[in-house]
Amino acid sequence: MGGEAELVVFESTEEVDHFFREEAREDISYRVLGGGSNILVSDDIPKTVFVQTVYGDLLYKEACDTIFTTAPAHMVWDDFVKETVEKGYGDLAALSLIPGSVGATPVQNVGAYGVETKDMFISLTAYDMKKKVWVTFDKEGCAFGYRKSVFQERKEFIITSVTFGLHKGNMAVPSYGGFAHLTGQSISPLELRNEVIRQRDSKLPRAGDVASVGSFFKNPVVTSKEAEKLKEMYPAMPQYVSNGSVKLAAGWLIEHSDAVYVKSEHFALYEKNKLVVVHNGNGNIEKLFEFQDKIQRSVYEKYGVHLEREPEVVGKKY
Ligand code: NAP
Repeated sequence: MGGEAELVVFESTEEVDHFFREEAREDISYRVLGGGSNILVSDDIPKTVFVQTVYGDLLYKEACDTIFTTAPAHMVWDDFVKETVEKGYGDLAALSLIPGSVGATPVQNVGAYGVETKDMFISLTAYDMKKKVWVTFDKEGCAFGYRKSVFQERKEFIITSVTFGLHKGNMAVPSYGGFAHLTGQSISPLELRNEVIRQRDSKLPRAGDVASVGSFFKNPVVTSKEAEKLKEMYPAMPQYVSNGSVKLAAGWLIEHSDAVYVKSEHFALYEKNKLVVVHNGNGNIEKLFEFQDKIQRSVYEKYGVHLEREPEVVGKKY
């Protein structure tokens, strides 16, 4: 879905430097494109050029009990997870099968089953397209939050590689509902990866199988007071305490409100998971925003909770 844009692919650091010093234009907006699995593009994207880096090797360095691994930004995230898990490092196993590239994971502080990118993150290397210099970010500099980082606001950085600190050994089982049958056990990194893949396959489409951007809304976070009121009115509502506030499950709110009946010619809620919006073809961003609007309104009318869109929009904003 969306209009056409030019793509510039860099095969070395020298090419990046040369392009932004000699060829880039002031009147054009340069945007990094990873795997493209979490962006929505409008039909009209004037003066936008996407850029990508496709160089760099996967490196490992051992120090005491930590294995530092640096992965190039363009590497497919799940290929990276698979390789580290097969080497016996389990830290990334919960993040198996998440679509996209290595370079995209810090941007959203991608997470699943209680594990977030920031937990293993050490540093990243990036090119600052505005200042035309190479920079390194440590964890603090990334300002990670819930599915959030500094890179969502500041679009001038091209992340080119990311370093993680990993460990060998068995894993604790996530406390998420789907893992209840394994509670109390310690499982190998590969067993955890296989279980995560099984769970995700039962609820989420694989990238490319249907047109979607994965979860369409963030899980809303409310105050303890609001959560208490909601629990009184809807005792079955799942709630999770996190850092003094309470997280609600966006998918559940959709499924248990009129939002689940919202119809559109071009878009639908994914049958196995109502948090995923599927594009059935011939839609555009305006039509998608209309669909989004109806879902947000239905959830708000019933629960007084606003659902925030999760994927990024390039071009026309809403
Ligand atoms: P699920 O297990 O059906 O649970 C629904 C939501 O409730 C999850 O999003 C999760 O929040 C929350 N939740 C469930 N059990 C929890 C617990 N024990 N403690 C705290 N929060 C809990 O979720 P799902 O749709 O199948 O997704 C599985 C995992 O993949 C989730 O962690 C989800 O966030 C993640 N995922 C991430 C992305 C992304 O990063 N863009 C996309 C798709 C799925 P959390 O979101 O905080 O985990």
